[in-house]
Amino acid sequence: MLSIPTLGHLIPFLELAKRIVAFDGFKVSLLVLHTDTSPAIFQLLNNIRLPKGLEIVKIPPVDISSFVDACTDIVTRISIIMRESLPQIESVIINLARATILVVDLFAKGALDLAADNLCVQKYIFLTSPAGLLAFMMYLPTLDQEVDGEFVDLKEPIHIPGCNPIQVDDLVDRVLNRKVEEYTWFLYHASRFPIAHGVLVNTCEDLEPTSLKALKENPVLGKIPTPPVYPVGPLIKAHNSPAQLENKCITWLDMQPKDSVLFVSFGSGGTLSAEQMIELAYGLELSQQRFIWVVKKPVEANNSAGTLFTTGNMEHTNPCDYLPNGFLTSINGVGLVVQSWAPQVEILSHKSTGGFLSHCGWNSTLESIVNGVPVITWPLFAEQKMNATFLVEELGVAIRPSVGKDKELVGRVEIGRVVRKVMENTEEGNGLRNKVMEIQNSVLKALDEGGSSYNSLSQVLQEWKTNCIVDKIDRKK
Ligand code: UDP
Repeated sequence: MLSIPTLGHLIPFLELAKRIVAFDGFKVSLLVLHTDTSPAIFQLLNNIRLPKGLEIVKIPPVDISSFVDACTDIVTRISIIMRESLPQIESVIINLARATILVVDLFAKGALDLAADNLCVQKYIFLTSPAGLLAFMMYLPTLDQEVDGEFVDLKEPIHIPGCNPIQVDDLVDRVLNRKVEEYTWFLYHASRFPIAHGVLVNTCEDLEPTSLKALKENPVLGKIPTPPVYPVGPLIKAHNSPAQLENKCITWLDMQPKDSVLFVSFGSGGTLSAEQMIELAYGLELSQQRFIWVVKKPVEANNSAGTLFTTGNMEHTNPCDYLPNGFLTSINGVGLVVQSWAPQVEILSHKSTGGFLSHCGWNSTLESIVNGVPVITWPLFAEQKMNATFLVEELGVAIRPSVGKDKELVGRVEIGRVVRKVMENTEEGNGLRNKVMEIQNSVLKALDEGGSSYNSLSQVLQEWKTNCIVDKIDRKK
C-alpha cells in the first residue's frame, strides 16, 4: 500500500492496512514517503503498535526544489513528490519479492504504472475521501471536454448521472481555475481511475447510498469506464494509548457535564485569517457555551491547506499574539484553548462533547458521525464544501453558519447563534443530535462481521487471494 504523507490520508491507510492483516493470510507493507517536517506524522508512525503482518516502510525524501516554489499548491506539490519518488518506490516493491497487490492513494496514481511492469498483478486505489468525490472525479474528464470556460461560471448545478446535483459553490477547489497546474494534475488523477482493477472507498452503503448506487450501476458515468467500487469504511483513527488519554483536554472534559462541550478544530492543516479568528473568539464567548478550541497561527487568508505539509501545523506560538486581549482570562473555566493539536478522536468520543465546529475534512466528518456528534460546518478547502452540504442537506446532522455579505467572514453574532442552537436544549439541536445518533448506529454496523463494508472488504480480499493463487501458478510456469 502506498499513501501520501498527509495525516488525512495516512490515518485511513493505516486503519485499512490493520483490517487487511486481520484477515487470514495477508501481509501488508505500507509505504510512506518519509517527511521530517510534520511532527504529527512522526508521532503517528512512531507511537503505533503494529499488528502482526503489517510493516511500515519509509521512503527517503526526494528533493523537489527545482520543480516547486513557495506558491506551489498542495496537489501539484504532492503529485511531484510522488513522481520523483517512483524509482525508490519501485526498488522497494522489487525487494518485497512476493508483492502481488498494489493499493495506492488518489494522488499516487503514477505508481500504478509500476504494476504494469509485472511487479504486482493487481492494482487498486484507496480513496480516503467520500464516494461523492469519486463520482465527481469519474465525471470530470467529461465535464472537461463538454464545458467551455470555467466551471464556476456555470449557471446550473452539475448533474452527474444518478447522483445528487452539485452546486457550483460547492465544487472541489482544485477545479475552480482550469488554467493552473493544480487543475491539470487533478484532471490527470481523475482520468486514471479506470487503470485500476478496483477502488476501495472510505465510506459505507448507509452513509452514501445515492453516490454508491450511481457508481455501481453505471459502467460509465461520463465518458470513462467506472472500475468496481468497494465501500470499506468508515475507517477512523484508532484510540490512542492510555498515556495520551492523560492529555489536558481529556482531564478537562472529565470535569464537564454530559454533552456540554463544543470541540472547535480545523483539521491538520486548516487555518483562519487573523480577522476571522477574532470573530470566532468573540462568537464563542457570546455563545456562553463550554468549548475546546485548537488554535493555529492565523494566515493571510482563510482556507489554507498550506500547513498540511509543514511544521506550521504543530508550530508553538503564543495565542495571546492573535486572540483578542484578555480572551484567555475571560474564558477561564468555560473554554480551553490548545495549540496546534489535540487528540480529536478521544475528544469526540468523550461523553462531555456535544458538538463539533469542523472544517469537514472527510476523516473529521466520519469521526463525528461514528461518535454521534452534531456538526457546525466550516469548510475551508479541498472537497470540504461538498462534505458540509452532504452533512447539512443529505444527512441532516449539521448546521451551517451564514457567511457575511462580503462572503469572506462569519461574524461573531452568527457564530454565537449557531453554537447556542447546537449546544442548547433547542428543538433544532435535539433534532440534529437524534439524527446523528440514528446514523451512528447504522454506520457502526457496517464494519461488524456481516455488515456491508465488512462484506465488501471480504469480497475484495477473496478476489485478491484467488488472483494470488493464479499468479503463483503463472510464475511457476
Ligand atoms: N486530527 C487530530 N488532532 C488535531 C487535528 C486533526 O487528531 O488537532 C486528526 C483528525 O482526527 C483526523 C485527521 O487528523 O483523523 C484530519 O483529517 P481530516 O480529513 O479531517 O482533515 P485534513 O487534516 O486532511 O484537512
